[in-house]
Amino acid sequence: MLKMERRICRRCLLQQEIPKDIAEYLDRLIALIPKKERAEDSVREERVKICSSCEKRADAVCMACGCYIELRIVAAAQNCPYHKW
Ligand code: SF4
Repeated sequence: MLKMERRICRRCLLQQEIPKDIAEYLDRLIALIPKKERAEDSVREERVKICSSCEKRADAVCMACGCYIELRIVAAAQNCPYHKW
């Protein structure tokens, strides 16, 4: 039986705001982050929720740090520059 890896819908609110080529680029960057350094799915989901309603968000980018939010939320060691997560 094929074992399916549980994937969160990290782009629920951000997906349509990222051009396809940039989304693919982000996916490649995320793939480079060792799995042990990635945040748990539940943590990422919570981060997406918070960022999605943040006044510092401009489309898929955090204007406080200039990062693509999708990339920032993946790394376990990252944090919000405004200490929201
Ligand atoms: S990282 Fe922090 S400041 Fe940036 S969009 Fe997310 S919650 Fe807002």
